[in-house]
Amino acid sequence: MTKVLRRNIVRFRRYRLLKRLEYSSSEGLSIYQGQRLRKLLEYGLATPRAEKEGGAHLFRAEGLLPAQILKTLPILQKEVVQKKLASLVSAKGRTRRSIEDRTSGSTGAPTIFIRDLACLDAERAAAELFYRDWLGRERREPVARIWATEADQAPTGEKVGGFFRKRISEIWLSAFNLNDADMADFFKLWQSHEPSILIGYPEAVFECAKYLRRNRIRIPHLKGIVTAGAKLFPEMRSEVERSFMAPVLERYGSRETGLVAMECLEGRRLHVVAPNVYVEILNESGAPALPGEEGSVVVTPFYSYKMPFLRYVMGDRAKWALDQACVCGRSWPVIEEIVGRAQDCFRLRDGGTVSGMLGYYIMRDCFDFSKISQFQFIQESYERVTAQIQLSMPHDEPDREFFDAIVKARDRFSQSMGPNCSIHFKFVDHIPRLSSGKHRYLMSLVD
Ligand SMILES: [Zn+2]
Repeated sequence: MTKVLRRNIVRFRRYRLLKRLEYSSSEGLSIYQGQRLRKLLEYGLATPRAEKEGGAHLFRAEGLLPAQILKTLPILQKEVVQKKLASLVSAKGRTRRSIEDRTSGSTGAPTIFIRDLACLDAERAAAELFYRDWLGRERREPVARIWATEADQAPTGEKVGGFFRKRISEIWLSAFNLNDADMADFFKLWQSHEPSILIGYPEAVFECAKYLRRNRIRIPHLKGIVTAGAKLFPEMRSEVERSFMAPVLERYGSRETGLVAMECLEGRRLHVVAPNVYVEILNESGAPALPGEEGSVVVTPFYSYKMPFLRYVMGDRAKWALDQACVCGRSWPVIEEIVGRAQDCFRLRDGGTVSGMLGYYIMRDCFDFSKISQFQFIQESYERVTAQIQLSMPHDEPDREFFDAIVKARDRFSQSMGPNCSIHFKFVDHIPRLSSGKHRYLMSLVD
């Protein structure tokens, strides 16, 4: 059996399991989550970090509910993953198949971590459920994406992808530099492919919605628009729904945890993918937040065996819905709102925008990332951006290598922003956080 076939079989099993648990009772779900969590704990206890903290007492997990088990565990901050990666790798999971992965660094500093392939399978299965069953996308229907891709200046065009690696066509628009010419090309492609689903960053999808309205372009046959990676403001949502004539649904997750929550079409409410992840929302004192109370999102993905993410702090704030019942009838917990997630974009004088992801790619590709602790781009005007860099070793002086990197970064920056906008690099000891406690990697002072 080929590796691809084997993975597809696993993914299909996960998908069927999700379907089976979609409408199960809360009690049944909780029992299932307890089983998953105990299995994950077997791996979690075999890490140097757990052993150092005397993890043996955790064996009392038998018979307890997930919330009771998790209460006994410390939370896992992103900084621990960044600085003590080896202490989180499970000896029990040594032979498990995995990949080294890294986050997009949307909170300023990227995180390198080890992703168990089982976690990836669970995520793909959830995505399949979401697009196929919740949104009604038929298997071979094309998808449109407005995304900031790995390759800096990814061209607008067609791609091949999909759950079973069949030839499903996708059309792409790079969110890096949204301009009228690229959007015109993209919507021309759109007419010939007629995608049924659009996936994109809220701010980029919003820019396209405005373009459609300006040019009086009508979009037929779209079943839904899925936004992820940033906060979707209500005014953006209604503009997008009007222009594309389709509902907008939010998806929430991260690279480390996979898909955490997704919005149902019937109730338009954000459901936690309960068979794959356990979500806690903790208030300032670390206790579970009450329904309606804002708190910090902490996620435990059940399939992260090789490097168990037990109580991982996402860096986002959210609140549970007061009323957990949803008209769709699913029992998966409902998050009222993800608050405090912001992903700005750079602004151009001609009204165009460039995705804030550009900042991350510049830092990742031009500098030695391991020497950078945090960064922040501040757009002071259309003509001027300042990049603040906080080094990992605070007393390190930026060396020759950094100055070479700056030359490269300036080049890269003007490729996207044009020759009239200059960028200045500043090494600082500390980058202050927002009052919410969150770091923003891009602050735009241009409205
Ligand atoms: Zn629902």
